[in-house]
Amino acid sequence: MSSETTKTPTHTRSHELQQRAERYFPGGVNSPVRAFRAVGGAPPFVERAEGPWVVDADGNRYIDYVGSWGPMILGHAFRPVVEAIARAARNSASFGASTASEADLAERIVTCYPAIEKIRFVSSGTEATMSAIRLARAATGRKIIIKFEGCYHGHADGLLVKAGSGVATFGIPGSAGVPEEIAALTHALPYNDTAAVESAFDAHPNQIAAVILEPVVGNAGCIPPMPGYLEALRELTRREGALLIVDEVMTGFRVALGGACELYRLDPDLVTLGKIVGGGLPVGVFGGKQRYMDMLAPLGPVYQAGTLSGNPLAMAAGIATVGYLQEHKAEVYARLESTSKAVADGVAAEAAKAGVALTTNRVGAMWTWFFQGDLVTNYDEAAKSDTAAFGRFHRAMLDRGVWLPPSQFEAAFLGTTHGDAEVKATIEAAGEAFRLIVD
Ligand SMILES: *Cc1c(COP(=O)(O)O)cnc(C)c1O
Repeated sequence: MSSETTKTPTHTRSHELQQRAERYFPGGVNSPVRAFRAVGGAPPFVERAEGPWVVDADGNRYIDYVGSWGPMILGHAFRPVVEAIARAARNSASFGASTASEADLAERIVTCYPAIEKIRFVSSGTEATMSAIRLARAATGRKIIIKFEGCYHGHADGLLVKAGSGVATFGIPGSAGVPEEIAALTHALPYNDTAAVESAFDAHPNQIAAVILEPVVGNAGCIPPMPGYLEALRELTRREGALLIVDEVMTGFRVALGGACELYRLDPDLVTLGKIVGGGLPVGVFGGKQRYMDMLAPLGPVYQAGTLSGNPLAMAAGIATVGYLQEHKAEVYARLESTSKAVADGVAAEAAKAGVALTTNRVGAMWTWFFQGDLVTNYDEAAKSDTAAFGRFHRAMLDRGVWLPPSQFEAAFLGTTHGDAEVKATIEAAGEAFRLIVD
């Protein structure tokens, strides 16, 4: 960052683009958290990005800690990914017929996730979790789903119950338009509380089809599982004949190459992936034990389909991304850990110096600075954070060229192209921002 960033950047062009966008899109956006409502101020419009840097329509540069909400783990416009997409595009963008690239990516995924025996590609995380739940209901002949408060699994009707981040950011308990008959089949329990899950199984014997969770919560801010929690869920679901669905749309390929399944040695029945697996293009995955996956049409009675599923451009981007992560596994994950630790701890130290109470939760390259001094192990505890202070911090950071996720209830991410210079600039900006918000 140059010294001129001490001057508040102008956003004239972004402002014009936002006004134009508001004519066409509700709130000017195609996904609600992009609107910056939770932190105030106008969202910059992005023109391009490279490595860890994003450039807006007014030419301002930012260090990026959103990473397209996860996918850009190798940095923006990563050469091998750009080239793979271009190569694939020359052969036409889509066929609606099978290509070899689907199995090429599937083979890599199965290698990284031993719990996954068979796969189906979809085009978003939402489709992945929605389809996994349909499959779990078909496999068990049961209706109830257990999820956890603050966990987000996409915007399918049955999963928008106490669904964290986007929903929490706007203070909506669930969503209008979801019939209560559908919402009633989803039981939301506190995260990190094994007894609550046991009670639910006791109260609804042979009625619970699946337990779905974020193995590390990202969508209520970052909340790691307590020791033994994931293992207890595995044991309980197995004992009760319910499926365990581990939603790794955010954590997959991020907290480890094999996601939380690798990090915590988990063997779930079904796994969902998204974000990184598409290298920035729209890809979702649900996969798991063959005996369940083979229930899908055309082999079995569970219908699920997609015109653009397994799209060749998306497969190419996924293969280039996952391939790179596989081939450079040791260096990549060591680097992600050390860079993330340096930023997360460095900023926390600045908060301490400025007298700002902050709780830092981090697992690898995902973390959250909660504006409060207490432990955060579930959604209710996360919700005690000072969101107004977070909003002021967010704006002060943006003015200093650091783009954080625009909600207290989101995890920050970084990638392999963030280096010492970006870490140092971020910590300096945070020092100034904290001093500013306590004044
Ligand atoms: C982002 C996310 C989803 C939804 O994925 P989309 O591609 O946005 O539909 C589902 N689950 C988790 C854990 C996520 O972080």
